[in-house]
Amino acid sequence: MVFAKALPDTGPVAANDAIVVTFAATAVDSTHPIMTESLVLVDSNDNSIRPSAMYGPYAEASGSANDWAGVFAPLPAGIYTYKIQVTDTTMTNSDIATGSVTVATGLGPAITSEVVGKVAPNSVAGIASNEAVVITWATSTDKSSPSLANVTPNVTVTNDSTHVATTATTYYGPYSQFGGAASFWAADVGTLPAGTYTYTIKMTDSAGHTAAFTSPAGAIQVAAASPLLVDAPGPARGAPTPLTSAELAPIVAAAEQRLTAALGTQATAGLGGASVQLADLSSGMLGETSGKTVLIDRDAAGYGWFVDPTPSDNAEFAERLGPDTLAAAQDSPAAGRVDLLTTVMHEMGHVLGYRDDSSGDLMDAVLPLGVRRTVAVDEVFASYS
Ligand SMILES: [Zn+2]
Repeated sequence: MVFAKALPDTGPVAANDAIVVTFAATAVDSTHPIMTESLVLVDSNDNSIRPSAMYGPYAEASGSANDWAGVFAPLPAGIYTYKIQVTDTTMTNSDIATGSVTVATGLGPAITSEVVGKVAPNSVAGIASNEAVVITWATSTDKSSPSLANVTPNVTVTNDSTHVATTATTYYGPYSQFGGAASFWAADVGTLPAGTYTYTIKMTDSAGHTAAFTSPAGAIQVAAASPLLVDAPGPARGAPTPLTSAELAPIVAAAEQRLTAALGTQATAGLGGASVQLADLSSGMLGETSGKTVLIDRDAAGYGWFVDPTPSDNAEFAERLGPDTLAAAQDSPAAGRVDLLTTVMHEMGHVLGYRDDSSGDLMDAVLPLGVRRTVAVDEVFASYS
């Protein structure tokens, strides 16, 4: 009687695992012991592969010495048939056992516990376009990838509508979380434009095994960072002349001057490297900031800009509406238009890390027509002028 088994020692067989096939063979009677034993693996092309070593007969546990083992060098992924044949000394008593060994692909690292987070100036729900996106996950390995230290991460985030892909540049890990094993990773993707995104995590071990996880579409939702919205009594009339870069430049300079006077080195350092650009923003939006990039809507959401020819004073805003709010009189050229200086200073406030509020000051998220909100900044500004 013969039986056979083919078992890797633990877990599935991977393409870089040595394969061990063990079997036991029992003679029909004690006067005719087993004389020959053969073991081969046969691949899908009918090629026979011989073991690199055979061991036996040996005793397993406390039993009799009727076990054998054959060791094969690592084999490419695929399904193999093992064939075992034993024959006793009669040369006619013989038995054959067959079975299959699957050498699997895709073993190696495995990805779990994916979380999308953010590196935020402040903690609020959602991710804004001025907040860095961080993806964390856990990686486990099997015996084919014994060391997490040799696993290399790659994280790509793809915009669902433009299909523009961004690859993370900074990775952290493996680190432990909550005192557990060091199996966690994090990727810093940086800031992303507003939109929805799909992300892919790929982990590759030193043997070339990979594991990949692709999120559902829309797994990352980036909202426009604190857009400044116009507050107007009715729809825009006519098509205002679009703002030019030449018109924008002196207002940007004046905005920097006022903020620097009020905030000192905080403004000079914080605004370093910032850029202010013209854009066609969504309906109702006057300005938007991502990181150090400020976008200003070309036509002030359709209401037209007031481009102050004397941006270092507030002469066109003669009325005081509130503690931080000036308003243009009916006959002012600023009446019925959106104050470009307030808008640029508001967005620069975001560059400096200030968040929107609803206090009627410079960082108020809504700007009515004909209103300038620079009083608090100006009071400091005035003391310098
Ligand atoms: Zn804002």
